Amino acid sequence: MDDVIIVGAGIGGLTLGLALHGCGIPCRIFESTAEIKAVGVGINLLPHATKELAALGLEPALARVAIATADATFFNRFGQLIYQEPLGRAAGYEHPQFSIHRGDLQMVLLEAFVTRAGRDRLVTNSHCIGVEQDEAGVSVIFSDGPGGTARSAVRGRAVIACDGINSALRKQFFPGEGDPRYSGVNMWRGVTRWKPILSGASMVRAGWLSHGKMVIYPIRPQGADGLQLINWVAEIETPAYRKRDWNRPGAIADFIGAFADWHFDWLDVPAFIRAADQVLEFPMVDQEPLPRWSFGRVTLLGDAAHPMVPRGSNGAGQAILDARTLVAALIEHDDPVAALAAYEKQRLEATTRIVLTNRSNPPDAILREVFQRTNDSPFGRIDDVISREELVAMSEGYKRIAGYSKEALRTR
Ligand SMILES: Cc1cc2nc3c(=O)[nH]c(=O)nc-3n(C[C@H](O)[C@H](O)[C@H](O)COP(=O)(O)OP(=O)(O)OC[C@H]3O[C@@H](n4cnc5c(N)ncnc54)[C@H](O)[C@@H]3O)c2cc1C
Repeated sequence: MDDVIIVGAGIGGLTLGLALHGCGIPCRIFESTAEIKAVGVGINLLPHATKELAALGLEPALARVAIATADATFFNRFGQLIYQEPLGRAAGYEHPQFSIHRGDLQMVLLEAFVTRAGRDRLVTNSHCIGVEQDEAGVSVIFSDGPGGTARSAVRGRAVIACDGINSALRKQFFPGEGDPRYSGVNMWRGVTRWKPILSGASMVRAGWLSHGKMVIYPIRPQGADGLQLINWVAEIETPAYRKRDWNRPGAIADFIGAFADWHFDWLDVPAFIRAADQVLEFPMVDQEPLPRWSFGRVTLLGDAAHPMVPRGSNGAGQAILDARTLVAALIEHDDPVAALAAYEKQRLEATTRIVLTNRSNPPDAILREVFQRTNDSPFGRIDDVISREELVAMSEGYKRIAGYSKEALRTR
């Protein structure tokens, strides 16, 4: 049987490779970069995604490098507690929520893939520039890296584009789409070595986008020095869109003013930002949901299919769920064209809902609600601003849409 060709060795591509190999479906992964390096900063894996990774036998390896996130905690920009709820196993899920360095996640997946499938099943320096298909199969055209001149072609029975937010294959099928859509919010992302904050496994969201919002969570267990590697993202409404790649360095001076008076008993935010090892800048972008992903023997997966603004901890998780659904479809249908159509049918509508909800009502809508009701002022008692029931309903509503309510996971 010809290989399934996977374009891109990011989170979605590597998970798909592992899942296909586990089911005996031959595949090869082609990655644009010359070497896969542990890049990025923090990422969250919610229980619907960790369930799939556990099924691939990866939970112990992930648990060694990640934090099992215990609670979500929301504050206003005056440091007042709005809401707290347990997460992952602490909330009674069968599987944990992991907060993890994206590089650590990618390395766990990469090592497992290379060990199980073989080093020759992953080809680097292969930058996809297009596909051509006929009745019998599909050819993928590669150059030797972005902007490279040498060309080669690889033949397969199906091609899965896992090439991320700037997907070359998405552009081939939707040439008029243009740049990703800017949300109006810029993000500065960084990591700081710091002593544990709150429970030591808290996912903190504070403030609001118009003045400045922070998301803060640890991504590596405490070292011998008692410090954790803590991921943070500063998000601020910024009218001008500056196109950035994931690894573009950012400058603290450009955003720290928004947090200058955030000296709380649970964290001195300016000192924490200034102590960062690394600061990156990236615009918060997504794309309009597509009407289709599958074209004969070619389909899109993960950010190539449904890039979403990172406000629901769902980007990596949805790529992982795509991979699982696609493998099930390839097992069920001998004909790859039918399999890719079935995959799209199951996943397109579900992910479209998440893309749209991440724009309007992601989990941090709790912060917006309190910001608006208090006119951005300190409150006396949170119960006089918003009831606990309302807060719980907002949080549970997102879980249902994103597919990780406890009922949904029990029945899946
Ligand atoms: C370098 C990098 C750093 C990131 N850092 C973060 C982060 O800190 N926090 C966060 O939430 N999300 C981050 N992301 C995005 C996050 O990984 C995705 O949103 C999510 O995990 C979905 O994964 P994906 O597999 O669809 O895409 P990605 O994980 O983005 O993987 C795409 C892969 O395809 C490769 N590729 C791209 N174009 C081609 C091509 N033409 N031919 C062959 N290969 C190609 C890329 O090199 C990459 O390995 C980062 C992505 C990248 C590429």
